[in-house]
Amino acid sequence: MSFDDHAEELASALGVDKQEVKDDLENLVQYSVPVEEAKSSLRRKYGDGSQGSGEPEPATIEEISPADAAVTVTARVLTVGKRSIRYQGRDQEIFEGELADESGTIPYTAWEDFDLAAGDTITVIGAGVREWEGSPELNLGSNTTIEKEEETLDVPYEIGGDASLDDLQPGDRGVAIEVKVSEVESKVIDGRDGETEILSGVLADESARLPFTDWAPHEAIREGESIRIENAYVREFRGAPSVNVSEFSVVEKSDREIDAGAGAPRRTIADAISSGGVFDVEVVANVLAVRDGSGLIQRCPNCGRMVQKGQCRAHGSVEGRDDLRTKAILDDGTDAVTAILGTDITAEIYGGGIEAAREQARKAMDQTVVAEDISTKIVGREVRVRGSLSVDEYGANLNVSAFAESDDEPEDRARALLDRVANSSASAGGGDDGDDSNSTGEDGTEGGESDDDGIAMEGSV
Ligand SMILES: [Zn+2]
Repeated sequence: MSFDDHAEELASALGVDKQEVKDDLENLVQYSVPVEEAKSSLRRKYGDGSQGSGEPEPATIEEISPADAAVTVTARVLTVGKRSIRYQGRDQEIFEGELADESGTIPYTAWEDFDLAAGDTITVIGAGVREWEGSPELNLGSNTTIEKEEETLDVPYEIGGDASLDDLQPGDRGVAIEVKVSEVESKVIDGRDGETEILSGVLADESARLPFTDWAPHEAIREGESIRIENAYVREFRGAPSVNVSEFSVVEKSDREIDAGAGAPRRTIADAISSGGVFDVEVVANVLAVRDGSGLIQRCPNCGRMVQKGQCRAHGSVEGRDDLRTKAILDDGTDAVTAILGTDITAEIYGGGIEAAREQARKAMDQTVVAEDISTKIVGREVRVRGSLSVDEYGANLNVSAFAESDDEPEDRARALLDRVANSSASAGGGDDGDDSNSTGEDGTEGGESDDDGIAMEGSV
């Protein structure tokens, strides 16, 4: 919608002169008031009937709807995060976090510094409401008045944003975590203001490991260091949450040693899939099948995709490079996932490297013998697998970093699994690099009815 359209729409809704509305609108937007909020405040100024001319009636958080033009609410500040955004070509500092009352919580963005602190009880008068993914959010701007209350409002929510890594969800703001820096490296990226140095790596605590990016490198972020990070925010990165540290984050050495074991948290496959992706996870499951596209394969020298009959999907006719890979269907009785094992792990299972595989294929005049050997070694076995689980439209994939036979008691798991297999074939469909028909039978399960239970090939090769 153009600026003119906004003015037009508003003028006709309010029954006032368009030029007058446009001037007012321009004036507000010039002071960096978001256009939706500017419109709300003009609706209040000219009175669109629903709001009257005074303050909006006090509401509880539960009552706030995206349809409200503006609201007044008394609430407790749960979190305050500060960050810089580029808005209409300029850098602007904004504050964001969550407010709560007895009835619920609501995210807010403050376009001005209202000097909010976690734990404050405030009455917000004339906050704009906008919709974000179907839910209301509050906009606090130049037309909002904030009164600090003497009396503390009791709310059934944690104040201050302290969280453990497995609590974090994309969209969280103003979070505080105590973690150990498990990996860190410095990188130069082409940022919005030219080349900038950033840090990236992996943070760990007792609950999980997560990737992070520090956009304004902090001295305290060093490998092996236990640190406290305040005012971080969370984004999604490759299907899992990622911690973002900014110039406004406070990073300090922690006074306690964070006990971040080297292990990854164990989850069921169903649980890992339903959380939308896990950066580093351990599952214990049975290998149901080794899929086509496993064993000795050829990759395009340009892009690394699997080459079939001398053809790369992107680069046409190419001279493929030999590689070893295994795509194994794992099932733990709760759900199934396609595990992708790279060259080294595949070589370990196979008991030989690329050269040995090439030699075996040459003798047999058939390279599928390599995948068959791998199948014999792992299908039907219970394995303990660690890696990064991602979920996309084709299904769930686990990029494996460690693979070992399980030392767990396998009987219960096997029984649960057999029940599942009896009902649904263990085959998988879909296909990304086109090398695959539905793979069945290798695991000894009957059927061949491929009723694709959500497994697919990896998105990357
Ligand atoms: Zn290619």
